Amino acid sequence: MSEQTRGIAILGSTGSIGTQALDVIREQSDVLHVEVLTAGRNADLLIKQALEFRPNAVVIAEDSLREKVFDALFEEGIKVYSGAEALEQVVEMEGIQMVLTALVGAAGLKPTLSAIRAGKHIALANKETMVVAGEIVTKEAANYGVMIHPVDSEHSAIYQCLAGEFHNPIEKIVLTASGGPFRGYNAEQLSQVTKAQALKHPNWDMGAKITIDSASMMNKGLEVIEAKWLFNLKPEQIEIIVHPQSIIHSVVQFTDGSMKAQMGLPDMKLPIQYALTYPHRLKNEFPRFDFLDYPELTFEKPDFGAFRNLQLAYDCLEKGGNSPAILNAANEVAVARFLADEIRFEQLPDVVEHSLKMVGYEKSTSLDALIASDSEARKFASEFR
Ligand code: NDP
Repeated sequence: MSEQTRGIAILGSTGSIGTQALDVIREQSDVLHVEVLTAGRNADLLIKQALEFRPNAVVIAEDSLREKVFDALFEEGIKVYSGAEALEQVVEMEGIQMVLTALVGAAGLKPTLSAIRAGKHIALANKETMVVAGEIVTKEAANYGVMIHPVDSEHSAIYQCLAGEFHNPIEKIVLTASGGPFRGYNAEQLSQVTKAQALKHPNWDMGAKITIDSASMMNKGLEVIEAKWLFNLKPEQIEIIVHPQSIIHSVVQFTDGSMKAQMGLPDMKLPIQYALTYPHRLKNEFPRFDFLDYPELTFEKPDFGAFRNLQLAYDCLEKGGNSPAILNAANEVAVARFLADEIRFEQLPDVVEHSLKMVGYEKSTSLDALIASDSEARKFASEFR
């Protein structure tokens, strides 16, 4: 890499991806440094991170916590801002070369667009942004000459397989899915599951929202839509295969039938590092995969009947317009309500289906139209009984 270190802004530094990104930066401090850190509400961790990584600025999204963060960092010469709008402004700062979007949900959309328009490359973990407004985000990235490096392990796998292959036509991609904690369950069994079971992912340790999305398979549905925009694919070119060991992270099949897969242990630090240091592969001490620890890699068909979210996501992908934005917003509310014990696990797709029925279909994908559909969908999803 060049002699200058790359300045990184991490949106959501206190979360699962954010903290692992800081582990990567700590290990790769010769080439990466932190310019900006942002958190939602976890002021204590944000302060601790800022004191270690000495960013130029931090943002705490929750306004009422600004004073606490300010008092801790003021004398350190670290700028402190608060509120959702500050996220949009802080990504424009001069020393930033890349913005890692590691916050949850559609809240990532405006800061991502703002970073793109300021010419910052994006390391994209926040898949919901691509689901809501993939067309706008990819167009703006092209307009501003900005690269979007996927962090999601499946999309990073595809991205890595495509290195050096950009002019070769893709026949299809196969996104692997672990199947989550309820792999093999039928609808009857899914009606009995508890919150504690849903929060226990067999292979990955992640934030609460994506953990529930993985259990309900909505995560894979969102990833299908994300893949369409990242790799410019048609719905029929995107397949899902259940692979419980999470070793093959995804597969590209080219027009000649040849398939390339990317493999490794299920550890998000690898795709995070690849995105932050792209196009370089840097030495690290992450644990290595040993074939003899995994004598069997197995594959199963996804169950679209029991996991209705998968079908809902493919339907929205086919339909386009404001459907993916409605799907995403309703799902965010459904997951929050499930975590608050207001609805049962098997009702997650019911909430999404209800919002899709209630919010009118709109072909327009202008930012204003998508934001309006997002708000409407949240209202119907909150009222669902
Ligand atoms: P976490 O819940 O662990 O962390 C979310 C981060 O975003 C926290 O720093 C949180 O702050 C902050 N945040 C949450 N809401 C807001 C908001 N409204 N405004 C500003 N900041 C906010 O999530 P994950 O790290 O698990 O996931 C982040 C994104 O990455 C998601 O889109 C997810 O789908 C994607 N992803 C995650 C993977 C994983 O392994 N975790 C794998 C692949 C993709 P605070 O905690 O301070 O309130």
